[in-house]
Amino acid sequence: QCTLVCGPSAIMEKDETGVLESVIANPQGKTIVCQVAPAIRINVCDALGLPAGSIEPGKLVSALKLIGFDKVFDTNWSADLTIVEEASELVHRIQSKGVLPMFTSCCPAWVNEVEQSQPDLIPHLSTARSPLGMLGAVIKSDWAKLSGTDPRAIYSVAIMPCTAKKDEVAREQFATKGYRETDLVITTRELVKLIKKKGINFKSLPDTPFDDCYSEAAGAGAIFCASGGVMEAAVRSAYYYLLGKELAPVEVQAVRGLEGIKVGEVDLAGLKVKIAVAQGIANAKKMIREIKSGDLQDVVFAEVMACPGGCVCGGGSTRAKTKAVLDARVAATYKIDATSQIRQSHANPQIVEYYKRFAGTPGICTLTSIRWK
Ligand code: SF4
Repeated sequence: QCTLVCGPSAIMEKDETGVLESVIANPQGKTIVCQVAPAIRINVCDALGLPAGSIEPGKLVSALKLIGFDKVFDTNWSADLTIVEEASELVHRIQSKGVLPMFTSCCPAWVNEVEQSQPDLIPHLSTARSPLGMLGAVIKSDWAKLSGTDPRAIYSVAIMPCTAKKDEVAREQFATKGYRETDLVITTRELVKLIKKKGINFKSLPDTPFDDCYSEAAGAGAIFCASGGVMEAAVRSAYYYLLGKELAPVEVQAVRGLEGIKVGEVDLAGLKVKIAVAQGIANAKKMIREIKSGDLQDVVFAEVMACPGGCVCGGGSTRAKTKAVLDARVAATYKIDATSQIRQSHANPQIVEYYKRFAGTPGICTLTSIRWK
């Protein structure tokens, strides 16, 4: 599966744990930081002896500090940032009669597929970067400034469930002033290998919080890793931007579940917005054929995730050995959301604070580092 959807880096999956170990052993004055994708806190658990569906962000941070990271930031935070930007862009496209349907752009294997096989769809891709792309840029701009660190003295690693992310960070758009925004991507499998190699007893680790200022996330950021999660999170914020009040109930059931293609409709005060979600490239191609042929009409917003199930069973993940394990992982993502005090990305206080620091406004802000162009 992985070699079909995840691009060149997946064909010969690179094990870069040795690169990371060398940098940690000889940092040459660099501060070594990492960001951790939403799926990792769930997926490492069943790989390291805890029941499937366990959620252990605190143990994960402890393990990463023991491995040698100076700071550990939460990619769930930047999933909220991606949603704020993507939902704002969707509302702008609807109000200005821009190019629709808009497609999500956070899955690099899907972006590669569009660029290489369906370039006519490029104007339909959201211009918002992925959570990895955003936080990689934010660490070497915002955090560098806040911490008084020269961005060239930061070695930034992303822990991802995804082999295609190794390809994403190598894009020329993600280099600034001669240095990479994200220096290395380590997959869940590579992380589990490192934890085992270091003899870390994951189950007995204490809880350690993520480091400021990218440590808090809404429930919306957590569901990013399940198929339909990006769509659901974006609908919550688009509703708020259009109507000035929160969607209730907050759940968008039509886009949950493991069907290949899911279609639903949200009512935005009389404006019916049709939404569609595809998981797996074959289903994405089918959905696009149906949209182009008119068999699937009036779609305004569509999500594509190249891996069946979404990132929670991504190409760099430890394998879910049974359907029950997969179901438990997906259920865990929605449990994080359901038990979160804040469930909408736009209400995340650290996101609000981030925009204030830059005097920016979602959707029309001048923060080029959080957009593809
Ligand atoms: Fe990577 Fe997630 Fe896309 Fe799979 S679905 S290729 S894990 S971003």
